[in-house]
Amino acid sequence: MKTTTLKNALIAASLAFSPVLAGHALAQDHAAQAEHHHGRCGQQQAMEQLAKRNPQAVVDMQTLQDEVLEVMQARRARSAAQNGNARQGGAGGPDPDSVIYIPTVVHVVYNTPAQNISTAQVRSQIRVLNEDYAKLNVDFGDARSEFRAVAGAANIQFCLAEWDPDGNATDGIVRVETTEASFDNTDSPAGWDNVKNDNTNGSTGWPRNQYLNIWVCNLEDGGGILGYAYPPGGSSALDGVVISYRYFGDEGTASPPYNLGRTTTHEVGHWLGLRHTWGDGGCGVDDGFDDTPDSDGPNYGCPNPFSAVSCGTDDMFENYMDYTDDRCMVMFSAEQAEFMRDIIIRNGRTQLLSSERCYFNTSIADPGADDQDGIRLWPNPASGQQVQWGLEAASTKDGMLTVYDAMGRLVHSRQLAVGFQNGTLSLDGFAEGVYTVVLESGSTLRQHRLVVVAR
Ligand SMILES: [Zn+2]
Repeated sequence: MKTTTLKNALIAASLAFSPVLAGHALAQDHAAQAEHHHGRCGQQQAMEQLAKRNPQAVVDMQTLQDEVLEVMQARRARSAAQNGNARQGGAGGPDPDSVIYIPTVVHVVYNTPAQNISTAQVRSQIRVLNEDYAKLNVDFGDARSEFRAVAGAANIQFCLAEWDPDGNATDGIVRVETTEASFDNTDSPAGWDNVKNDNTNGSTGWPRNQYLNIWVCNLEDGGGILGYAYPPGGSSALDGVVISYRYFGDEGTASPPYNLGRTTTHEVGHWLGLRHTWGDGGCGVDDGFDDTPDSDGPNYGCPNPFSAVSCGTDDMFENYMDYTDDRCMVMFSAEQAEFMRDIIIRNGRTQLLSSERCYFNTSIADPGADDQDGIRLWPNPASGQQVQWGLEAASTKDGMLTVYDAMGRLVHSRQLAVGFQNGTLSLDGFAEGVYTVVLESGSTLRQHRLVVVAR
């Protein structure tokens, strides 16, 4: 819910970063629940620590969030006045149908073999993000109808980076062994943030204007948290999302009840400027959005709808920005979705729009496309032992099939007799990565990008 004094609400919320005030702001039942589940999200703790080290950074983050929110609400008000209802993409708004792609790098910082999670587990998290941020999650229907009606699709998609900052091919995963048994919020001034730097036993982030950095590590000490993230507007060295290896993705080490990847959905929401649904304060302290009901504190577990009422209305405990179990958080509201797009399109993370670290944002055609330059290549991306290729018409000349890896090295070559039109390419010995398939027919060269994923 949006209050008329948004600025005051945000100032009140910033005061709530004091644990004493935050404690007062929680209603009795919410406070009692919090005793048992205090580690769902470490954002407030991280912000408290940051406020001691660098108070201006906290002010800068809140100022940016406030500005983007005011512009968005003004646009919605204009749209409502013109059309009788506020809708995403109203006058001057972003095109609600355009998909925003964010190149992503996952730093797996491990101290034990178990913490060195598999590539498949990393990929499972990217899939969950893409479902949740497109409102394509299969459990969306579990939300109560009153809230399904105000749900929004952010149309933001995440791709594991295909090129590193130096332009080399990558699978978007950086694995670093650390001597830290666990990253703890109390063991140094920077605490958890140590995971973000090579010099403090972590892994230095890639440039934030080109990538979303996600660190996966052990966060079990000091009471333990599932993850945390700073909002946009802070320093580049700290920018990104940190998630416990026990709550990342939906397979492998992912542990119930936080084993469906929603911790990362929640923390990426913070990274794109969203607050918790209760605005980190009691009734009257707000998250800035009209379509999330006022709430006095987090909900945990999978609440009984009849008891999850605060500030006189039903709490939207299905929201990714609440504290419920993974299987019970299934949606963003339309205003939350629009706000996150505004952060990317208008102010906060705008440079990501032109980042060319995944093929999506380049002028190169999607390798998933069926037809490219007269060649069909399928399935693509390929996860099996072979791919099929085909031309629009039979070649009237002898030809050659060659395949190059991302570094330009020849990895396959075969002569083709006159009349060729279709064939099979074995992927035996092909590592994961991006390849270029070239078909020569006389003096005609055709090429197609091929992506080989884990098999
Ligand atoms: Zn949070």
